Amino acid sequence: MPSSPSHPHVAVVAFPFSSHAPKLLAVARALATAAPSATFSFLSTADSLARLPATAVVPAGNNNLRFVEVPTDGDQEETWPVWRRMEMFVEAAEGGGLRRAMEAAGDAAGGVAVSCVVGDAFMSMAAEVGVPWVAVWTGGPCALLAHIVGDAIREDIGDDDDLHGARGDELLTSYPGLGSYRVRDLPFGGGGVGGDMHRVMTMLLGRVARRLPRAATAVAINAFPGLFPPDVSAALADALPNCLPIGPYHLLPGAAATQANDDDPHGCLAWLARRPAGSVAYVSFGTVAAPPPDELRELAAGLEASGAPFLWSLREDSWPLLPPEFLDRATKAGDSAAGLVVAWTPQAAVLRHPAVGAFVTHSGWGAVLEAMSGGVPMACRPFFGDQHMNARAVARLWCFGMAFDDDNDGGGKPSMMTRGRVAEAVASLLAGEEEGARMMRARARELQAMVVSAFEPDGGSTKNLHKFVEIVCARRV
Ligand code: UDP
Repeated sequence: MPSSPSHPHVAVVAFPFSSHAPKLLAVARALATAAPSATFSFLSTADSLARLPATAVVPAGNNNLRFVEVPTDGDQEETWPVWRRMEMFVEAAEGGGLRRAMEAAGDAAGGVAVSCVVGDAFMSMAAEVGVPWVAVWTGGPCALLAHIVGDAIREDIGDDDDLHGARGDELLTSYPGLGSYRVRDLPFGGGGVGGDMHRVMTMLLGRVARRLPRAATAVAINAFPGLFPPDVSAALADALPNCLPIGPYHLLPGAAATQANDDDPHGCLAWLARRPAGSVAYVSFGTVAAPPPDELRELAAGLEASGAPFLWSLREDSWPLLPPEFLDRATKAGDSAAGLVVAWTPQAAVLRHPAVGAFVTHSGWGAVLEAMSGGVPMACRPFFGDQHMNARAVARLWCFGMAFDDDNDGGGKPSMMTRGRVAEAVASLLAGEEEGARMMRARARELQAMVVSAFEPDGGSTKNLHKFVEIVCARRV
């Protein structure tokens, strides 16, 4: 199929699991808006496209964004656990599936072959499809740095089980850009995701670490210039070709449709509108993490003990783990209830709502950037992957929140959420008069202002987005 040097056709390839696809779609919509004369094909599985907000899966820009399904074996989709579906999907994509999907995108675009792949970094097989590969990293950028030097770190520290050993509190000062993090913050541990999921993620991240520095033409990261101290930015620039902080992705021009602000079936925004400014604690652990049952009950008790109104996004399979009387109070008592527990919220809009004054969270990278964008201080309970590093950065680098795992229980294990610690953290973030609490709220507001300026016409993310578009749409003969 001929590629047309004068008409770029860019395939934006999602990793169709957890929260990855909406983040890639935000990037795709920004590209389509910024380059109206190029064609963009968003490639993902039917299942993942169906889970995107209806407002997002419509043509964007100059009608130059189309959606192409990547085929999978439907039977397996239904019955297999996520780790197995991931494994099967990646095997199929490596074995020619991605190439075939790109050909299908070319056919659908009237025979104009794909000239560049902008792919989720987890789709690192894109390095081998014969056109430039521009990678999009959706997680915490410092976790990516850690994965890139992962082999050296493991040689030094030991295997993943040793992260919480005698050297757990040691700072990683001999690794560029990682000096603020402790050994136990590293993103290599399974942290309760299950052995099979951990094995698949380790395999995927190993490939990312090997391929990204050598084979990518450029790497977009979900950050904005000035977010990290100079040594971290320099380490990222050294480790990654054309490393471009263009985020927060959810605020990219054209990306708003990916957040389903209007899709608020549980009436969270209306509920918030009836609460005073800065009074509500919002709770969410993202799309995968789930606190163990005991901790969930402690959290519930802590929220009630704080006396603050709370909005809790909790997947319904966890509802039976809560005390029934708590759920009754928080789901059935209507507007007079102290809390509202729902299965899903329009989170980015919730965190921008003036009523929200504290965020109890797993500190996924999306959550961190959405909290910054809303100017909301965080209480972090990290579980696995990049979450420990993200929590550390929130508490120690940017100082706009606290981390429940910041100290240990005396036995070397990180502390978890107890009712007392939750109540104390929520009350302190919302309205604590002590200097630390005031500073966290002030830092949250400063970070929010930095996010706003990143997207001004001459802001850092705006400029980097222009560079990104140039690279992606470069004419190649
Ligand atoms: N999210 C949402 N509503 C919810 C829970 C999560 O919109 O009720 C979104 C949230 O805004 C974020 C994403 O899901 O963009 C979760 O991403 P994050 O990186 O925080 O965590 P992950 O799910 O990848 O662990």
